[in-house]
Amino acid sequence: MTAYRLATSGASVLMLDRARFPRDKPCGGGVTVRAARLVPFSLDPVVEDVVDRVELRLRYGRHFERRRGKPLVLMTQRRRLDAFVAEHAVAAGVEFRQGVRVTAIETDDRGASVTIDGKQLHARVVVGADGVNGISARALGLRSRRTHGVALEGNLSAGDVELARYRGKVVFELGAIRGGYGWVFTKGDHANFGVGGWEAEAPALRDHLRELCDQHGVRADRLTDLRGYRLPVADPSAPLVRDRALVVGDAAGLVDPLSGDGIYEAFLSAGFAAHAVADFCAGRTAGLTAYDRRVKDELARNLENSWAAKHALDRFPRLLFAVARLELVQSALERLARNDPQPATARRLAGPALRGLGLLAPARLSSAA
Ligand SMILES: Cc1cc2nc3c(=O)[nH]c(=O)nc-3n(C[C@H](O)[C@H](O)[C@H](O)COP(=O)(O)OP(=O)(O)OC[C@H]3O[C@@H](n4cnc5c(N)ncnc54)[C@H](O)[C@@H]3O)c2cc1C
Repeated sequence: MTAYRLATSGASVLMLDRARFPRDKPCGGGVTVRAARLVPFSLDPVVEDVVDRVELRLRYGRHFERRRGKPLVLMTQRRRLDAFVAEHAVAAGVEFRQGVRVTAIETDDRGASVTIDGKQLHARVVVGADGVNGISARALGLRSRRTHGVALEGNLSAGDVELARYRGKVVFELGAIRGGYGWVFTKGDHANFGVGGWEAEAPALRDHLRELCDQHGVRADRLTDLRGYRLPVADPSAPLVRDRALVVGDAAGLVDPLSGDGIYEAFLSAGFAAHAVADFCAGRTAGLTAYDRRVKDELARNLENSWAAKHALDRFPRLLFAVARLELVQSALERLARNDPQPATARRLAGPALRGLGLLAPARLSSAA
């Protein structure tokens, strides 16, 4: 997305990826409407289901469903979404080299370089968009304190799950996994079952996924494409820029700690990064630091609320579940998922309430990497 945006602003862009596209990426493939709104072209060709209902469940028991009447999440598969975005980047003029692994990145105040196949390539600016396991953040010294979540997911094809039961909705199972939840998302011809939580839950994730399947009356041994991956949440003070290089998306550790979503944050940071790079290349700014400030200004308040809600969910799942039933909260979540403006009363109530609950919860169970 950064490459696409840079190319459309007139920059000469080389995009490198160690994978060949289409490639998959462990992900539920849920693109919130607020994320889709950041994309300058329609995602319709890769959308497989449109979600306007949320089914919230507590410890595989009590549950309720709300229809919001407006689309909240667009369901896609990352294999399709990422190839689609890459195609748009190429059509906009980006040179895309696939199957090349970057092994080193260097930068100083004169420019930046990356190493592929033992050869150095030079550029005025390098953007690290290489995900949670990439090398850019580490190579640039931008990988300071981080908390990681972990998630495991797999797919059940139409013959193994009653897709109509899940069509048009997202199902979240709360209170069963520390630091996370279970989910069921539908796609065109399959449903995605997944579980995520604190990094310390990693050894138990397979059991959690089996439990999720059992509780939904489907067979865990029929899951295909089973994949686990980490979700990075950076300390809010972690720098995102070094000289003539910056990091976006998971490379910057921008995943939301409560929802585990990172596509919105990846698209948002891509847009801000492209702006900062274009301004710098046009001589309008002396460096890239405006990017760092803009990302933090935009995400800071949500990050604080998400941490508070996450700790409260661990400590008081029943209370959070009861609060989540309230129309005021449902409507606030709908506005958040869509990025519709929040009424002033909701803004005034939601943040302090969440932070209050968070303060009652125990100290953050973090694992610094
Ligand atoms: C199980 C799971 C479920 C999730 N579900 C959702 C969801 O439903 N909705 C949501 O919003 N978010 C979800 N997320 C989070 C979301 O997947 C990430 O936040 C998002 O993919 C970040 O995008 P990115 O472009 O920064 O990184 P990535 O999507 O990880 O892309 C990084 C790219 O860099 C390439 N790369 C890596 N290293 C190198 C190298 N050395 N040289 C060259 N190329 C390299 C990789 O091949 C890859 O193509 C989920 C995450 C997990 C783990």
